[in-house]
Amino acid sequence: MTRRVSILGSTGSVGVSTLDLFEQSGAAVEIAALTAGRNVARLAEQALRWRPRQAVIADERLLPELCERLAGAGIACAGGEAAVSEAAAEPVDWAMAAIVGVAGLAPTLAAARSGATIGLANKESLVCCGPSLLHAARRAGGMVIPVESEHSAIFQALQPLAREQVSKLIVTATGGPFRSWSVAQMRQATREQALNHPKWSMGDKISIDSATMMNKGLEVIEAAYLFAMPPERIEVVIHPQAIVHSLVEYADGNVLAQLGAPDMRIPIACAFAWPERMAWPAPKLDLTACGPLTFEAPDPEQFPALGLAKQALTRGGQAPAALNAANEAAVAAFLDRQIGFLDIAATAAETLERMEALGALDAGESDDPVESVMHTDQAARRIAAEVLGGFAGARRAAGQGSR
Ligand code: NDP
Repeated sequence: MTRRVSILGSTGSVGVSTLDLFEQSGAAVEIAALTAGRNVARLAEQALRWRPRQAVIADERLLPELCERLAGAGIACAGGEAAVSEAAAEPVDWAMAAIVGVAGLAPTLAAARSGATIGLANKESLVCCGPSLLHAARRAGGMVIPVESEHSAIFQALQPLAREQVSKLIVTATGGPFRSWSVAQMRQATREQALNHPKWSMGDKISIDSATMMNKGLEVIEAAYLFAMPPERIEVVIHPQAIVHSLVEYADGNVLAQLGAPDMRIPIACAFAWPERMAWPAPKLDLTACGPLTFEAPDPEQFPALGLAKQALTRGGQAPAALNAANEAAVAAFLDRQIGFLDIAATAAETLERMEALGALDAGESDDPVESVMHTDQAARRIAAEVLGGFAGARRAAGQGSR
């Protein structure tokens, strides 16, 4: 049966993998909407191949170019952030939420409210607004199926009849490119080194998050919301080979793990076909060729972002949203070569501290969850900008300025 599908963030790493999976599997899909941020050329190319009902570009200034590229193709074109959310609200059977950052929150929530089954990659929407997002999906009769390999693993290893007996979730992490670096070496890390992930090919923001392990911290917050698990029962373990994607420990001592090649199309296939399994020419796991599988504890001094995320989760209120905003701002500044690598986590820590001192981590509560989050997001970005200014100034003074 043909399924109606939308892909929010189709031009990114996860979006491209999703379309590639459809291509490789010959899945029967009719695309309702493809949306992008700024990559108008790739969006137009995808639209001409997949013939969605509409193609939407978030940066409104690029709408004329999109219309020009799609002239005569019979595909409706739209532009602007609101148009992305409107497209996301259109009823479909399945929506891939793969926009990066808090920009994905409103569209993902709109898709959840439409009752679609959501393949959720946009971690920031879950981190900032997890309970409301999951509640909205449930209320509309839809479902959120995690796409990230770690949460997909836990999702698959959770036995529905034994959920009360889960004693621990074990989330694996590769440790990123700096796993074996000292803190002193990490202080000098460049943009190129931080983007050079040893196992996964991903967008820039999540690649930097993997290098700081903020990514794993955000995943702990996600796991807590997705699987209703308290922070103290979520453990992070470094597993550099990225073969075991996460594990569930039960009260009777049994531990269930999910394994697979490190290829995002595998968890996407699971989220798309669930509760069935789809056949496609997936990269198969050859256990005899994997080499030894190793596990180690993360070093909190090397990766302070991990502890920070757990702290924000335990603090609750708007702390996860503030942490996410400060981190997004700091990652952007690092990618722009304004600050050093270690300044990313330091910015997030300082921003959270200042927000707490100002009593701003409980502020911005409103009936509209997006409004509450965006209120906190903007306040945190203002504070983060001050903190980042200090780090950037110190760097310039030390002769390590931008570029
Ligand atoms: P990319 O940066 O590769 O792609 C992000 C997508 O979001 C692009 O389509 C981009 O459009 C779009 N976008 C960016 N800004 C906006 C905006 N303001 N409004 C609307 N759309 C926008 O990211 P990834 O694919 O790597 O990651 C997507 C999400 O999935 C992230 O939340 C990430 O943490 C998560 N994730 C990713 C994994 C991966 O393997 N890549 C694994 C697990 C989770 P454009 O390019 O046209 O500007």
